[in-house]
Amino acid sequence: MASDLEIARAATLQPIGAIAARAGIPEEALIPYGRHKAKIDLAFLRTQSARPKGRLVLVTGISPTPAGEGKTTTTIGLGDALNALGTRTMICLREPSLGPCFGVKGGATGGGHAQVAPMEEINLHFTGDFHAITSANNLLAAMIDNHIYWGNALGLDARRITWRRAVDMNDRALRGIVGSLGGVANGFPREDAFDITVASEVMAIFCLATDLEDLQARLGRIIVGSTREGQPVTARDLKADGAMAALLRDAFAPNLVQTLEGSPALVHGGPFANIAHGCNSVAATRLGLSLADVVVTEAGFGADLGAEKFLDIKCPSAGLAPEACVVVATVRALKMHGGVAKADLGREDVAALKRGVVNLARHVENMQKFGLGVVVALNAFTTDTGAEIAAVQEAMSALGTEAVLCTHWADGAAGAAELAQAVLRRMETGTTRFAPLYTAGLQLEAKLRRIATEIYRAADVQIPGAVAAKLRRFEEMGFAHVPVCVAKTQYSFSADPTALGAPVGHVLPVRDVRLSAGAGFVVAICGEIMTMPGLPRRPAAESIGLDATGAIDGLF
Ligand code: ADP
Ligand code: MG
Repeated sequence: MASDLEIARAATLQPIGAIAARAGIPEEALIPYGRHKAKIDLAFLRTQSARPKGRLVLVTGISPTPAGEGKTTTTIGLGDALNALGTRTMICLREPSLGPCFGVKGGATGGGHAQVAPMEEINLHFTGDFHAITSANNLLAAMIDNHIYWGNALGLDARRITWRRAVDMNDRALRGIVGSLGGVANGFPREDAFDITVASEVMAIFCLATDLEDLQARLGRIIVGSTREGQPVTARDLKADGAMAALLRDAFAPNLVQTLEGSPALVHGGPFANIAHGCNSVAATRLGLSLADVVVTEAGFGADLGAEKFLDIKCPSAGLAPEACVVVATVRALKMHGGVAKADLGREDVAALKRGVVNLARHVENMQKFGLGVVVALNAFTTDTGAEIAAVQEAMSALGTEAVLCTHWADGAAGAAELAQAVLRRMETGTTRFAPLYTAGLQLEAKLRRIATEIYRAADVQIPGAVAAKLRRFEEMGFAHVPVCVAKTQYSFSADPTALGAPVGHVLPVRDVRLSAGAGFVVAICGEIMTMPGLPRRPAAESIGLDATGAIDGLF
């Protein structure tokens, strides 16, 4: 069987100008990066900003397992299928991070016959956006230490600096470091740390900002630490916001690429779905909605994390309202939720599937709580059996939800035609009445409790006194209205990554809360959360290289 990279390389790509023309983007708004990638001029975005006309479709998934679910693949397949049916559709995705590319997961450009291309370039460096985001983050870090070096007029307490450096790599050696060693000329030694770029607040800000002005205002609100008296110090206080915005200006223009079937796709921004909100940029989504009749976009991890944040953080902040939701599931992953080990997934096991389907059912119910019409996309693997597929469809029809088997990974657009029709039908019924789970006026602790009980179905939330006091302090500082971004494991509805399926009676332990004042949310840290992943024993990087012609091998 051909690998994703082989399939991608065998495709004949169109010049990016032809893709832009198909999407309704004029030639003069195109800033080409080679033949197959382009940025869209911000001046054009400004002319489009007043007319979002398209309908927004969110693609999310069940709680992820090592078996793989295929949300990105399905987002692309669905976009291709809608275009093939004559519905002008734009696909909006996140940009891949180098960490997963070289680690376990691989790239993030879809798979099989549902991919965006050129996959090597999108996965590695692309148009340099992550470089710009990393640089803006590290400029602020450099300006903090420089401020202290030159007399510390703001009175920053070196022990209370919370701003960390960033690099787009899985590098566990940088999880905790000591900087400024080597003597008087090098500043004041202090403990420091690196986050992977996609976990940085600058990435979240980049993705939530509506325009350059909003971008700079948000950057200015970043809190980098505090004085000895506990007064917050911001990036604006350090006069770093202007230069950070300047570094990000060109990156802020969305990137246009194409699918293997010639659909336009905007691939822009890429925050983690645990410490941040896990979806592509507001700028790209709004551009897509101004151009196309339908925008299909993906939220990261399971629907309890990525979709909840899409619906409670991104949509209210950007004034977006999705009209349908696709929940991606696979027979293999549902069997894992029913207790089957990864090595045994090739064997038919209807009983395990019936046990595991509770995970899908709960995610579907949760999306319905937001008023969304839901369609389940059952992403077909060659090992699925008819009895297993029928069992998922029965369980879903008992919930009044259609589960459509789709084969876009093997067959491209044709394999997702039925899914596309089901999504269009869902939107035609006009029954979607999107509303976030909570209103801005609810107290921070109450927002957190609502997410935990309604979405995770926790019996209780454990908030230590010191953490509750911090939440009250954030409210006093003027951040009572912001949403709560929960950082917890993606593998379970609970904070315990081994509790698969649909656990009940669990207690959500809130370890700490942090204010991301620039991004505009409070992060609630529940359980062990990694903001700098490590590489596995055998990193994917070991298999990546160049062939005799200079082409890249081994990416997946
Ligand atoms: P997600 O977005 O949910 O993390 P992706 O769409 O990136 O998942 O897919 C993860 C991996 O699984 C990719 O390498 C992709 O090629 C593979 N994959 C997706 N769907 C299928 C399928 N139906 N059959 C086989 N492999 C698949
Ligand atoms: Mg994905």
